[in-house]
Amino acid sequence: MKRGQFIQYLLTLPILGGIMQLKDLYPISQKLDSTPRMPVLFLGHGSPMNAIEENEFVQGFRTIAQTLPQPTAILCISAHWETKGTLVTAMEKPPTIHDFGGFPDALFAVQYPAPGSPEWAKQTQSAITSTTVGLDYTWGLDHGCWSVVKHLYPNADVPTLQMSLDYTKPPLYHYELAKQLASLRRKGVLIVGSGNMVHNLNILAWDKLNADNYGYDWAIEAAQKMKQYLQNRQHESLINYQQQGKAFQLAIPTPEHYLPLLYTIALQEEDESISLYNDKAVAGSLTMTSVKIS
Ligand code: ZN
Repeated sequence: MKRGQFIQYLLTLPILGGIMQLKDLYPISQKLDSTPRMPVLFLGHGSPMNAIEENEFVQGFRTIAQTLPQPTAILCISAHWETKGTLVTAMEKPPTIHDFGGFPDALFAVQYPAPGSPEWAKQTQSAITSTTVGLDYTWGLDHGCWSVVKHLYPNADVPTLQMSLDYTKPPLYHYELAKQLASLRRKGVLIVGSGNMVHNLNILAWDKLNADNYGYDWAIEAAQKMKQYLQNRQHESLINYQQQGKAFQLAIPTPEHYLPLLYTIALQEEDESISLYNDKAVAGSLTMTSVKIS
């Protein structure tokens, strides 16, 4: 039903007792199959400690959340869930997964009890037609999702799902797959890619962990180029990151933290622009740069 038709329909409804209350309208509005287009995010998640620390990145996530319409659901593509084939979590209550080691007990104690949604899992499954997306009942929410989404929605009251990265597929495959999620944006689903654009943990400058915006030369070079490509909408260059020279090779030694960015940009439509936030380097070889498309 189109919006104009919907309003006409409302006008024809009998108004019992002379007053129609908002709660009476709710079941009707639920039948609407389209909402304004939901923005798309890429969140640089960085250290799992961002889940419990108070810092500028956490503040950045909170600030961006205030600019978003209330989502009907969150679909998160996290760097930390790689599978053969593509899966979407379909359980009612996804467990909080503490998929890391060597961190304080306080981090292992964090729970993010957002509900899942078998219904939105099916909607995600049917949005993708180029392959069969499997329904998953064994994963949950890993830290790529909950450590950042908890700052957007601290009440954990929005149904939250994850979609996995098929590790057998090349970058273009991920970009093309993500495009098929476009219809979910018009159903109020907030699609979130969670990773890091520059992410090379093997050569972290541990002595610069607390320095403000410290990046190695190659990290800064790669980050600048990525941002330029994002702003100029040069998606091909971002998809073909393996042909972008030495700085990119160092910035993206393995694909999993970078690929979620391709899910985000694939959903950018003609009339949409991109804004960056949390745009800083940490400990030399990591960037927290995050993206909003709207
Ligand atoms: Zn990570």
